[in-house]
Amino acid sequence: MQTNNLGYPSIGSHRELKKACEAFWKNKISETELLETGKDIRLHNWKLQKDAGIDLIPSGDFSFYDQILDMTMTVGAIPERYSDLKADSSKSALDLYFAMARGYQHDGLDITAMEMTKWFDTNYHYIVPEFTKDQQFKLSSTKIFDEYEEAKANGILTKPVIPGPVSYLLLGKEKEEGFHRIDLIEKLIPVYHDIFRRFSESGVEYVQMDEPFLVMDLDDKERKAFTYAYESLHQQFPDIKIILTTYFGDLRDNLKTALSLPVDTLHIDLVRSPEQLDEILSSKQLPSHLNLSLGLVDGRNIWKNDFRQSLGLIQTATEKLGAQRITIASSCSLLHSPCDLDLEKDNAALSPEIKQWLAFAKQKLNEITVLKNLSLDEERNTAQQEYISNINAAKSRQTSKLIHNPKVSQRLNSVTEEDFSRSSSFPERKELQNQLLELPLFPTTTIGSFPQTAEVRKWRADFKKGNITQQQYETFLKQEIEKSIHWQEDINMDVLVHGEFERNDMVEYFGEKLEGFAFTKFGWVQSYGSRCVKPPIIYGDVHRPQPMTVAWTAYAQSLTDKIVKGMLTGPVTILQWSFVRNDQPRASTCQQISLAIRDEVLDLEKAGIEIIQVDEPAIREGLPLRKSDWDAYLKWAVGAFKLATSGVKDETQIHTHMCYSEFNDIIGNIADMDADVITIECSRSQMELLDAFADFEYPNDIGPGVYDIHSPRVPSRAEMVALLEKAKKVIPAERLWVNPDCGLKTRDWKETKTALVEMIAAARQLRERI
Ligand code: GLN
Ligand code: ZN
Repeated sequence: MQTNNLGYPSIGSHRELKKACEAFWKNKISETELLETGKDIRLHNWKLQKDAGIDLIPSGDFSFYDQILDMTMTVGAIPERYSDLKADSSKSALDLYFAMARGYQHDGLDITAMEMTKWFDTNYHYIVPEFTKDQQFKLSSTKIFDEYEEAKANGILTKPVIPGPVSYLLLGKEKEEGFHRIDLIEKLIPVYHDIFRRFSESGVEYVQMDEPFLVMDLDDKERKAFTYAYESLHQQFPDIKIILTTYFGDLRDNLKTALSLPVDTLHIDLVRSPEQLDEILSSKQLPSHLNLSLGLVDGRNIWKNDFRQSLGLIQTATEKLGAQRITIASSCSLLHSPCDLDLEKDNAALSPEIKQWLAFAKQKLNEITVLKNLSLDEERNTAQQEYISNINAAKSRQTSKLIHNPKVSQRLNSVTEEDFSRSSSFPERKELQNQLLELPLFPTTTIGSFPQTAEVRKWRADFKKGNITQQQYETFLKQEIEKSIHWQEDINMDVLVHGEFERNDMVEYFGEKLEGFAFTKFGWVQSYGSRCVKPPIIYGDVHRPQPMTVAWTAYAQSLTDKIVKGMLTGPVTILQWSFVRNDQPRASTCQQISLAIRDEVLDLEKAGIEIIQVDEPAIREGLPLRKSDWDAYLKWAVGAFKLATSGVKDETQIHTHMCYSEFNDIIGNIADMDADVITIECSRSQMELLDAFADFEYPNDIGPGVYDIHSPRVPSRAEMVALLEKAKKVIPAERLWVNPDCGLKTRDWKETKTALVEMIAAARQLRERI
């Protein structure tokens, strides 16, 4: 029986890599210094894994930006637009690499970055490979070999990790018409041969090939590509043991394909889908030589492993296959877990009671080894202590008063069908709202946040450190709100916002005010490149002890006769961007959050707020990986939004905001949310995204974003008028709103002011044309 870890976070437990990369990008440290930091992190990670007793330690999982981009370098799929940079001998390979990740604007060159998108259903983002019809591949980087040798030189034999050829192609995008990227498989495989040849020369025994697409919906051609690729590799290199690695779901209709491939080991995710173990073990196709790597320790969440359950699964597998053929592993790469729980020693926001239920990456390594020891007669004694403490922690979690709040379950039980819908239909509500709100045609508004300037962040940091009093902090925030309200009045904005100056983050702010949430100090997880997030931990029943935003919004409203829009984060987004408890279905946790938001919505209404926005930017990213699971998810996710927002009077206008770029396939569900107004990201696609709404005849009001807030560029009035004219062609004028794409927190005031003045002028111009 072996132990196997699929990958370890690259960022460093104190975000050393983030800091070094950002310093390098600002020319504050040299390339040599950055490379040194990378080396230190790798060595540290390898030693940690070795000391923890991991047999199959990954190499090549370390990345300065993203592992898929690393593979793009390895197979030489460098898009044409970087060729000048590549040819420039004054630029290093790392300069080229970062240019591909982040774009390049120096020395008269202006090259756009490669696209970035979410890694399956995680909050990690990878760099999307770009393919052309006559795409060529060529082994072009030695990173994967260098890192193997580096570990070896330090006395650690590793298992190189690379994306498998089929998943690598499927993760990419065709940059021209006339072919499907999977057609490139025959051109790509020779590079994998080159890679394997080098592995073989270096004496590599195991290679982990990540093929997460095996848990996705595949067509026959894609399945055939698997057969072609793996048979070809096996034929040439029969001695290299491939660990075919799947995660984030179950194999289902791809099981037959997976079991037919000539590999040494199949890795399966038993956290997401423990049921697939039985299915595999009882499959007639299971080859008699195939080893199984059991993904038992959750790489996606922060809870301690449930040893009792894991040992049950291990036993089932060993009874059938024998311990020799079993490997104990993390469910996926630990990249998605924070690094080290030990760093939370002095964290008052994480009580010892909660802490004993958690395991971060470093602790998870230990769990993998302990599970192995507990499964072997001759080792069991050595792990008794750990077993007992695990069982005690599980018991404490099951019965803790911190988790279970009888009031919350009572409240959930009393929820009725009516609580999920507004009392009247949209047209009836709209008439009442028009009378009350008296807004012009093409009403102007923003998405909520105004610039979070260095000054705002400094005040918050000072307050958190105790350098200033709560009163001083609140006085400052009130001044900021007052300035922003008066400025919005001056420029003639129709629907005002208070600006969200008091919020650090749109989820953390609410989490801090709700019961059932805990916070780490160092629980950083990589989101993309050097960007890390620190998700809250939802450990218990969610309950709102008191209003969270009412005072700020009511204060803002007291300063003006115009309408101030209340601003809340929706239940699905709060759920999606947190570590969620695993002792009840996500849908149940989400419903608890919905009720808390519903209370806030009703309190805002009571305080005289006539428009309330509930942001749900994360609804789409929660979509399951398999289409057949979508309906079940959408039912509870849409339900959660409706439960949060349907308690209000007809006159109260509910807005929602979403910022993602594909609406086509779920437009009906968005319509079911029945928000009076939806604002969406649209400007980057030149209003193309609106077509989905138009084709569907989306019935309620829409505010298609007219300018891209992700860039400092100020759009011209004419540009915005043109976009609105385009929008007007597909959506009736009476249902169009005018607003930016998203919140303005990352922008400066200077560009924000100019852009919004122009936006309002654009709306005025449209009104005049009617
Ligand atoms: N109200 C939020 C803001 O303006 C919405 C952010 C988002 O959609 N991601 O910042
Ligand atoms: Zn947004």
